Amino acid sequence: MRDNNWLESTFETIYEKLIPEIERENEITIRFGKFWKNKFGQISLQKDGSSQILINSFFRNKEIPEYIIHTTIAHELIHYMHGFQSPREQQFRYPHQGNIVNKELKKRGFGQLLELEKNWVRTIWWPTHKSLSSQRKSHMIFTD
Ligand SMILES: [Zn+2]
Repeated sequence: MRDNNWLESTFETIYEKLIPEIERENEITIRFGKFWKNKFGQISLQKDGSSQILINSFFRNKEIPEYIIHTTIAHELIHYMHGFQSPREQQFRYPHQGNIVNKELKKRGFGQLLELEKNWVRTIWWPTHKSLSSQRKSHMIFTD
């Protein structure tokens, strides 16, 4: 089941695969966030000094391939590494300038997954989002 525990262990796997040499200078927490339409994930620095990653709650559904969760976590971790929403020294002025996230992901062996993600987003995400949203709505109507 894709719950927050599953998400945490997936996160650890991706961290070790992607940025094993990057020391964690604070606690990084991860959990499922809201049912976003246009956002896959986000990272934010919390008041207690930890960094929190949130993943789109639609991704709990098995119809979303696991590699989408992997690329989403990897994307947020590159922001962390670049010093955005993390205690690390900020390396760039803006988090997405000059395609820096994808360049870093490619350098670290995630290029093929990025291609898969791109195709999936182009062809499958919107219809899937639409059907999951309406399932969710009717489910809420019947259970409330
Ligand atoms: Zn980003």
